[in-house]
Amino acid sequence: MQKAQRNENELRCHCHGAIFDLESGAVRCAPALKPLQKYKIRMDNDSIEVDLDKLLPQSTQRDDSISENVVIIGGGAAGAAAAESLASAGAYVKVLSKESVAGPYDRTLISKRFAEVPLTKEVNENISYLSSTEVLSIDPKAKLLRVKRILPDPNKIGCGPKKKWTFEEMRYSKLIVATGMRPRYLPGQSSGITVYNSSDVERLQELVSGKRVTVVGGSYLGVETAANLVMLKKKNKLESMTLVIGEDHPLSTPYGEMIGKVVRKKLEDFGIEILSESVVEKVEDEKLIFEHGSEHSFGALIQCIGGIPVTSFLPEEVNFTGELVSVNDKFQTSCEDIYAVGDCVKIDGVSYNPHWAAAQEMGKAAATHILTGDATKLRQTMVWSSFGKVHLRSVGARADDCSSQKHYIDETSDRYITAFLNENEHVIGCVTINGDPVCAQVANLLEIHDHVRLEAFECLF
Ligand SMILES: Cc1cc2nc3c(=O)[nH]c(=O)nc-3n(C[C@H](O)[C@H](O)[C@H](O)COP(=O)(O)OP(=O)(O)OC[C@H]3O[C@@H](n4cnc5c(N)ncnc54)[C@H](O)[C@@H]3O)c2cc1C
Repeated sequence: MQKAQRNENELRCHCHGAIFDLESGAVRCAPALKPLQKYKIRMDNDSIEVDLDKLLPQSTQRDDSISENVVIIGGGAAGAAAAESLASAGAYVKVLSKESVAGPYDRTLISKRFAEVPLTKEVNENISYLSSTEVLSIDPKAKLLRVKRILPDPNKIGCGPKKKWTFEEMRYSKLIVATGMRPRYLPGQSSGITVYNSSDVERLQELVSGKRVTVVGGSYLGVETAANLVMLKKKNKLESMTLVIGEDHPLSTPYGEMIGKVVRKKLEDFGIEILSESVVEKVEDEKLIFEHGSEHSFGALIQCIGGIPVTSFLPEEVNFTGELVSVNDKFQTSCEDIYAVGDCVKIDGVSYNPHWAAAQEMGKAAATHILTGDATKLRQTMVWSSFGKVHLRSVGARADDCSSQKHYIDETSDRYITAFLNENEHVIGCVTINGDPVCAQVANLLEIHDHVRLEAFECLF
């Protein structure tokens, strides 16, 4: 927290933008879920003595006055944050997750470390996580879920996994849908894998070893996957790495040409070949066929081309398009007592860039509405990405929703910043490479004024 940015009685972590209450250490904004540890201190003239025996937070008690039977579908960023908020207020919550992992994990680390990392080892006793549990349909009138569960079956005879499938019904009084997005695939043969969950991670290690690997996708996931796999090249013994992108430069669509060029140079320095302006039409016989007519053959293919909202199981009253679910500022859908949060929603009248911390904040806001009936104004959250020693952060508007851009290049300290400006030349968003504290300070300022004057922005670095 040494480099954290102070804003009145709050501290914003410069790395990922989490905000903590300066006095109590309580979490005020994602991505943190747990409060900062507290220690007793004693002031002695000019020095501060810290008693390293931790002051442990009080454990949460079940509050029986909260009679809601809250069920959350999805144990990702939004679902886990909603569950934590409800449970720490004393409510009892059931989280149903299709994933085989028991409890929530940090998906963002999959494309960085190619491993799942639990969000927290301390599981709140008011939360019951049901893994390998898929919601198939919802009856909103009866407030009933139809659920498929995969359970261990030690008595099963014969080969194959010792598991059984059961179908159950579950009741809810309030329901939070937090089902996120599932990966999109290129047309053609379903060759290759995506980078999304535990089974992808397992398959990935086998798939890439000793191969000419091709990653398709010029956004975060493609860039991180290509670069971080190359960083682990020794272990995985890749023969080569090619990144195929439809744009001129990786990440240039959200962040503009300057950042795109810097990212491209970094990736090329890592030994990655970049095929740009190459839109894939289909996959055929271990080859990518491009719209411009040429072909590219690969040894192993990883597809990172974005996601499709997981909403088709919802009743028509909630979502008749099968796409993003519309919600109001309290995250209520058009169906009574059904909320929706995270990557699978669009908020009425708000343009929003899906990312981890924003999904968590939505989960917390829906929980607050269930507990208190209050709407929560979403805080300014930061998007983060890292590959090799490159740390990319962004907040607020991006290239596609600004009037102009201003660039700040400092090659000596390897720091690159683009400010996104409105028609009055005020900063309404920024992206930084290796300039995390600047991004954290802009996040703080944007919470107060909606924009930052250019002179004030330039004083931040
Ligand atoms: C590999 C990877 C790396 C990423 N890295 C970053 C990063 O560095 N920074 C960042 O800001 N963002 C990152 N993101 C994006 C971020 O993870 C998402 O924005 C965030 O997870 C969205 O949260 P969510 O709760 O809406 O959905 P998810 O976290 O995807 O959770 C949805 C959950 O619902 C479950 N589910 C779906 N349907 C059902 C059903 N019918 N029944 C039961 N369960 C169901 C799914 O299995 C899943 O576990 C990354 C995404 C990926 C895939």
